[in-house]
Amino acid sequence: MRNVICADCGSRDSQRTVTNGSFWIELLLLVFFILPGLIYGLWRLTTRHKACAKCGSKRLIPLDTPAGRELAARYPTA
Ligand SMILES: [Zn+2]
Repeated sequence: MRNVICADCGSRDSQRTVTNGSFWIELLLLVFFILPGLIYGLWRLTTRHKACAKCGSKRLIPLDTPAGRELAARYPTA
């Protein structure tokens, strides 16, 4: 896992994987309507993303980029 910094709150290496939608809705759709269930499941997979564990922001910048280094300088570690 790459080291990232949150562009919104400056928190480092606290990220979680966020999956949109609900597993139960996907299951329900699959059981009753196969095709929408598959599409829904695909949508959930493709929209899965990493987000800051602190503020939920999707703007996580890798620390080994110029923008990441700039952010790291702006938010010094306590
Ligand atoms: Zn954040």
